[in-house]
Formats: sequence, structure tokens, C-alpha cells
Amino acid sequence: MIKKEQGINTLCTHAGELKDQQFKGAVSPLYMSTSYAFEDVEVKRYPRYFNTPNQQALALKMAALEHGEAALIFGSGMAAVSTSLMAFLHKGDHVVLQKTLYGGTSNLVVEEFKKFGIEFSFAKDLSAEAFEKEIRKNTKVIYIETPSNPLLTITDMEAVAGLAKKHGLVSMIDNTFASPVNQNPVDFGIDVVIHSATKYMGGHSDILAGTVISSEEKIDTIFQMAKNFGGSLSDFTVWLLERSIKTMGIRVKTQNENAQRMAEFLEQHEFVAKVYYPGLKSHPDHELAKRQMKGFGGMLSFELKGLDAAVFMKYLKLIKPSMSLAGVESTILSPTKTSHALLTPEEREEQGISDGLMRFSVGIEEPEDLIADIEQALEETRKDMLDVRI
Ligand code: PLP
Repeated sequence: MIKKEQGINTLCTHAGELKDQQFKGAVSPLYMSTSYAFEDVEVKRYPRYFNTPNQQALALKMAALEHGEAALIFGSGMAAVSTSLMAFLHKGDHVVLQKTLYGGTSNLVVEEFKKFGIEFSFAKDLSAEAFEKEIRKNTKVIYIETPSNPLLTITDMEAVAGLAKKHGLVSMIDNTFASPVNQNPVDFGIDVVIHSATKYMGGHSDILAGTVISSEEKIDTIFQMAKNFGGSLSDFTVWLLERSIKTMGIRVKTQNENAQRMAEFLEQHEFVAKVYYPGLKSHPDHELAKRQMKGFGGMLSFELKGLDAAVFMKYLKLIKPSMSLAGVESTILSPTKTSHALLTPEEREEQGISDGLMRFSVGIEEPEDLIADIEQALEETRKDMLDVRI
């Protein structure tokens, strides 16, 4: 029996294990069936009902990791985001969202919600006052993301949860960047916790998945919509995800340490203009991050001083210019060209995303090797630019 107060690595390894009753194997067996008996059974199982043995077992692990009562596993992070929002929003309702959000989430809201008659507004800044100002009579949900993609802004979870309670709203968070290793929003009063499990939970850049964790009651509300939207995940990938999560605690702790080293190294570098990382004392919300996070995460962003970001990324040898994030390998990207490409230049500017911004997903490699790679790429970029001037 797994108790929620067990340590993170114990939960990652054992919570929600599916016992192999037949052969007593050490790992969860995989049940690939899409067709189960319907007579003389307690549960009528079907993958799109989110209730196959592997789906249910992994949902227990997710709930334990995020200190929730129940969970659902989805085919992508966006399936989890869209289904969770739509489950609590009906025609004529309104949602208040944080301005600095993953581009796909902003795009979902801006592009799709009008079609369903759902109103939305973005809080002008991250303060509770700014969220409260946007609350209307028909507001039903407050949605935040902290740390946010890509600028690592920090939102006060307790303040937002308190606001939601005061006004009888559902509070939702995208907890992808932190992972359950670094942050458990339920402990701060947030109602619904969403992850792109494609990121730290998968951790190896080979799984697309999502999850939502909440109370039994709210998960049932989301399930009623989820079974109609049909965004469940194949059992094979569910099984792979369960396996991946076993090492999430040790992966993320190493990524935390490495990211802190990278952020400190970059911050003092003559060719770096700005570093965005909640673990740095210079981060405007470092103290808040310390209060609500157990570790500062493996993601950071930075801008170069006088050097071209696109040229710099081309010279990197170990750190791969690559989409997505949170794998064991270090990757770097331009949000303007990838995660936030769907936003207009004005929308990006409003969020503070410059064209030269680079988002660095720090992996588990030795930090000295990552620093050496950055040093040589900066030097090559500098020489390149001198050549151009001559
Ligand atoms: N939330 C955040 C913070 C993300 O970074 C992403 C993807 O990059 C998503 C949600 C969407 O997840 P997925 O790509 O798994 O649908």
C-alpha cells in the first residue's frame, strides 16, 4: 500500500504499480486489449473510457505524485488542457488566464473559444489583484502556468487559489515546467493540476502524453467530457510512461542542479545580456519561487549581448537545437520559431518574448561539458561576427 507521505523517488518507482499476479514479475504487466467482457464484470472497460488496467494504474501514480485524489491520462498535454478547460466552461461562461502561457494554450483559447461562445481575458500581470480585476459575474475558471514557458515567470499559487475560493471559481494550473518533483500545487489550494507528460514525466523525448490530477469529483466532471472528446492514450504508451516516471525524481534533481549551474555561468558571461531562471537571486520572484518550489527546475531562457542567437545555436555541438523540452539530453530553441510561433509578433512582444530569446532545456549531462559547449559556440559566433564586419 502506497501512502502519499512516502518520498518522491519511492512514489515515482512504486505508486500505482500493477501487480503481476500470475508470474510475479517485478514490473507492471501490459494489457493491450481494447475489448473487455461486459457481462459478469464490475467495470465495463474500454480505452476511451480511461479505465483499462494500465490507464487506471498510471492514474493512481499521477494522483499520488501530485497529492490529488484521482487522475486521468491523455494522449497529449493539449488534450489534457483543452478537455479540462472545456469541462468547466459552458456557453456564456468566462475564464481568466495568465498572460504568459505556453503558446499552444494561448492559441487554443484565442482561436477556438469564441466558436463555443466562451469568453476569456488575460490578467495584465501576475499579481492576484490583476487576476481579480478580470473576474466577471460569469467567470468560472482561473488558469495559470508557473514557472511559465518560456520566460520562467512565477505566479503566486496560494494567492490565486485563495482568489478562486473567494469567488467560487475552479483554479487550474499547468505544472509542466516544474514537474511534481519540484512543485505540488494541490498543497497550495489549486483545484486542477495539468501536465504535458511529454516533458519531465516522459523525460526521454519519445512519448507524447498528458495528465490531469484533481479531486474525485472534479476528475469525474472532466471524465464526462473526456470520454466524448476521445483523447485517451494507447496502453503501450501508458506502460512506457509508467516506466519513465520511475526515474523522474533522480532525473529532475540532476536537471535542477545542472540548470542552476548553467544559469549562474551564463549570468556572469560577457556575451550574455539576460538570464531568466527562478533559481537566480536576480529573478524578480526568486523569493516566491523559494516559498512554493522544492527545486527551481531544469528550464531557463537567455538572451545574448551583441551576438546573433541563430548563429550561436548552429555552433553548439552537444546541446541540440531541437523542439520540445525536458528530455535527459540538453536542447535549445527559439520560442519565436517554435513554441510561440502561433502568436503574432505583437502578442509575443506583449509577453516579453524577443526574437533573440533562447529557451534552454538542461539535461543530465555533466555540467562541465555543457559549459564547454556553450563557451566554444560563443567564441565561434564572436569570430563569425568579426569576419562579417571585416
Ligand atoms: N504545457 C506546456 C507548458 C508545454 O510546454 C507544452 C508543450 O510544449 C504543453 C502544455 C502541450 O503539451 P503537448 O505537446 O504534450 O500537447
